[in-house]
Amino acid sequence: MFCPKCGDEFVPRIRECPDCRVPLATEAPPKPKFEPEFVELVTVLVTRDTGELLIAKSLLEAEGIRYLAKGEGLQNLFGCGSLGAGYNLLVGPIQLQVAAKDADDAKALLCTNK
Ligand SMILES: [Zn+2]
Repeated sequence: MFCPKCGDEFVPRIRECPDCRVPLATEAPPKPKFEPEFVELVTVLVTRDTGELLIAKSLLEAEGIRYLAKGEGLQNLFGCGSLGAGYNLLVGPIQLQVAAKDADDAKALLCTNK
């Protein structure tokens, strides 16, 4: 018996995956095409300044460091002007995050260029 969710194999008398709480299937589930990538993210920059953010992004891009900007969606949403400038005050700072393995490089990059 196989769990259709996590793919674990169980002895036939078990009917439900103890981890996923789903009924087991007799067939093994197809292997996912891509293993979900687990990346530990580290915040390297917190800013409300979109200019600073743009510079930081271009620096990271130039070095080929992948990043994630948390809170950027909100900023764009409220920054479009339709709600009025006052709403920008409600938007928190943007966090720029990179994978832990790139954190040192990213920090060095951002600090030397400040
Ligand atoms: Zn499972």
